[in-house]
This record gives sequence, structure tokens and C-alpha cells, in this order.
Amino acid sequence: MAADEPRTPLPALPDETFRRVLCVVAHPDDVEYGTSAAVAAWTARGVEVGYLLLTRGEAGIDGIEPDRTRELRSAEQVAAAAEVGVTHVEFRDHPDGVLEYGLALRRDIAEEIRRFQPDVVLTGSWELEFVAGLNMADHRAVGLATLDAVRDAGNRWVFPGTEPWSARWLLVSGDPRPTHGVDVTGGPLAAGVRSLEAHAQYLAALPWHPAPADFLPAVMAQQGRALGVEHAVLFRAWDLQAPPSFD
Ligand SMILES: [Zn+2]
Repeated sequence: MAADEPRTPLPALPDETFRRVLCVVAHPDDVEYGTSAAVAAWTARGVEVGYLLLTRGEAGIDGIEPDRTRELRSAEQVAAAAEVGVTHVEFRDHPDGVLEYGLALRRDIAEEIRRFQPDVVLTGSWELEFVAGLNMADHRAVGLATLDAVRDAGNRWVFPGTEPWSARWLLVSGDPRPTHGVDVTGGPLAAGVRSLEAHAQYLAALPWHPAPADFLPAVMAQQGRALGVEHAVLFRAWDLQAPPSFD
């Protein structure tokens, strides 16, 4: 057991109430390192899930020019989404690798929250250190901008012109202090593996990268132990409608 692994089982996310989930990430493939297995579990139950990607990952392949990479990674992301029942895939063309936290990101994310009207917004950790080690700049920028955009979207007077929308839940993937988990044993795990495999040309450019069918089940088995199930994906969950806690 890792030192930071919780000693008592984590609770399952109360996701039976979820209706619509918006996943906000920087790059094609960011959703596919665990989150997409949870997405598969949700869409199988009729939850509507959408993706918002702030870049097209055009700086992700050393040996291929960005203009070509932009096209192939966008197509691979759409295929990956389809593997877990997601057809709503939105891209914003911010520059890959040099994303800057700021109002431009917050505005784009807030506007998509108002359009898609999710009760759950899901993003990646904005911390310097996350479960996979040192976090990267684009991920930190998008995570932090999403945190702020959730609040922006609910304020009529911030980015005015569209009707405000207040999500109830903020979920953070990759956070080293997870609070909840989603059981992905069986079909959802298999769909999650297929969704990462859909990034075939991208993964082919990373010879060191382990095969999705090898490492994803192992990671989710480890997270499953925290939840008391065979395979799980863990999240830090914030109930934004809960009364404030000062203890
Ligand atoms: Zn990424």
C-alpha cells in the first residue's frame, strides 16, 4: 500500500443523481488515462457526457508537423470518445504546449458550461504534483481555469450575454487526495482501455509508452483497492451546493 493510500475504503461517488457531465481538459488523450472508464460507466446508465478540449494537441508528436498532428489527434479524440458513448466533443484552438491561465481560458470554459448545462464538471489536477508525478503547465492552466470557470458560469455579470448556469459538482482527476471512487469493473474498464487505444498514431510515436491493455487495468486495480472493488477510478469531489465546512 502506498503511503498516501487511504486506510479506510473511500465512498462511491453519489453518481446515481448525475444527469450531464462535462469533462474539460487540455489535450486529446487527457481523458483517456482513467476518467474515460468512469465515463463509460456513466453513459451506460444514460448519463450524457461531453468533452471540451482547449487544444488539439498539435505539439504532441516530435516527428510530425503540427498542422498534420492537429488533424490526426482531433480525429483520434473523436474516436476515443465514441468508445465510451460520447459524441459531444468540442475543441477550442488554444496553442498546445504554451497554454496560459487567464480570462481567455476561463471565458471559453464558462461559455461551454452555460451551453452544455452540466450538473457535474470534471477536470484534471491543477497542482504542481499529481498522481503521476510532476504536473505539466497546460494541465495546471486548464485545471485552474476550469475551477474558476465553474464559478464564472454561474455569475450573470461575469462574461455577460449568455444565461448563467451553476453546476453542482466539481470532480478532479489525478488528485493525490481522492475523496470518492467510481467502480469500473468489467465493461467500463474494457471501454476505457479501447478509448486510450484509439489514440493509436499518437501512442505509436511514444515508444516508451506501455500498452493501454497492460497498464490501465493495473492502475485501476490499485485504485480499486481504495474503494473495495476490483477496478475503480478515483476523484476528488467538491459538492458546490453543500454548506461550507469550517472544521
Ligand atoms: Zn495532456
